[in-house]
Amino acid sequence: MRPAGFVFQRLRFAPPRLQHRGVCDVAVVGGGIVGLASARELILRHPNLTFTLLEKEKELALHQTGHNSGVIHSGIYYTPGSLKARLCVKGASLAYSYCDSKGVPYRRCGKLIVAVEREEVPRLKALYERGLKNGVKELRLIDARAIREREPYCRGIMALDSPHTGIVDWRLVALTYGKDFQQAGGSIVTGFEVSDITMATESPAGSSEGLKYPVVIRSSKGEEVRCRYVLTCGGLYSDRLSEISGCRAEPRIVPFRGDYLVLKPEKNYLIKGNIYPVPDPRFPFLGVHFTPRVDGSVWLGPNAVLAFKREGYNLYDFNAKDFTDALSFRGLQKLVLKNVVYGVGEMYRGLFLSAQVKILQKYIPELSRSDIVRGPSGVRAQALDPDGNLVDDFVFDGGVGELGSRVLHIRNAPSPAATSSLAIAEMIADELEARFSL
Ligand SMILES: Cc1cc2nc3c(=O)[nH]c(=O)nc-3n(C[C@H](O)[C@H](O)[C@H](O)COP(=O)(O)OP(=O)(O)OC[C@H]3O[C@@H](n4cnc5c(N)ncnc54)[C@H](O)[C@@H]3O)c2cc1C
Repeated sequence: MRPAGFVFQRLRFAPPRLQHRGVCDVAVVGGGIVGLASARELILRHPNLTFTLLEKEKELALHQTGHNSGVIHSGIYYTPGSLKARLCVKGASLAYSYCDSKGVPYRRCGKLIVAVEREEVPRLKALYERGLKNGVKELRLIDARAIREREPYCRGIMALDSPHTGIVDWRLVALTYGKDFQQAGGSIVTGFEVSDITMATESPAGSSEGLKYPVVIRSSKGEEVRCRYVLTCGGLYSDRLSEISGCRAEPRIVPFRGDYLVLKPEKNYLIKGNIYPVPDPRFPFLGVHFTPRVDGSVWLGPNAVLAFKREGYNLYDFNAKDFTDALSFRGLQKLVLKNVVYGVGEMYRGLFLSAQVKILQKYIPELSRSDIVRGPSGVRAQALDPDGNLVDDFVFDGGVGELGSRVLHIRNAPSPAATSSLAIAEMIADELEARFSL
């Protein structure tokens, strides 16, 4: 074991409580929007406890939180009664109030879900009913003429109009949560890649506190933080964090890359608010959409292709462990067999933009290949069960035994987890209080 002094040296930029002791009551692993929102909620509720957030990158919120569509979802799509439905509707409302209170810029620009084929109309109407059941505000079905009044360049037979949908920079929101956390006395340690979580067998050298902080979190560089309880919010690595703490390996995370296209600025007039397709019920993703950004640009996409590297943002990014892990997983093999045609189609459209544009022209006929350029990409952490089913709802779980009963893992927090982040944080804080008697 490394000498305790090494830990203190590594953490010398952290606030005094951690700097002098290398210990805390609760360690939160993962500095994305879910980890930051949860850490913030916990410290605001428990100012007398000590909290440390550990993030492997040099900066916070660089992965899913910094690579997404930036939409404040209103909660239409999700199964009534599910965590996604409840936490999205509540989370959107909390997000608007939070942005107002902190001066984070957003636009409540609304969204149309547009049916362009007759066969989509029954599904659109079902979505409307679902949205109403979920308690989404101000929803209405509109006809072709009303679509043109809202979006002069958009064509469709019928649309679901959701004025409560908005846009925001989720990374900025997450960083603002981080500031709140630090101002309340929380410590953030970046560049700390958690590689091992174990129970201590002996107290740290020179410590008079015995095993008060029995959980040992080690980084890939050998640094150490000790705590009483752990919350992991590891996004694309949530399954690995669960595994290293002796908890369930499944559901596993499969990375799906989504590439965006960007409208040339002189064509931004084509899009006023969000324009989405009627989603295909066989897939968990919402389909390629048109999304204005708070900086004034307009993004189109993203598609969904299997990535060969978790956190791999380019077509040719490859990681042998991620690749073999994914391929040897029975769940992924089954998923691929079930969706070969769709998967190949998505890859084709990703490579050949004219094929992608053809789909987009169903909504905005005036759009042409020369109006767009390739934009950034994001990688979704999609949880998959061993039967090849995509896990739809948010999943939170812990384990058993000495270590497992001190850990809570956020296993699956896909879209709309950014929108839902403040509501997820409230639920996680309730859960930690109940499990760990905080
Ligand atoms: C393409 C795309 C579009 C999306 N669009 C939207 C949208 O419009 N609206 C919406 O609400 N949601 C959207 N989402 C979903 C949303 O972005 C995510 O649900 C949300 O960001 C998840 O946050 P997170 O904190 O769980 O994960 P992340 O943001 O990925 O954060 C996880 C963090 O854990 C860290 N970490 C991992 N392993 C370790 C380790 N071993 N040690 C230390 N740190 C570790 C990572 O470095 C990372 O910073 C989208 C997602 C994608 C990918």
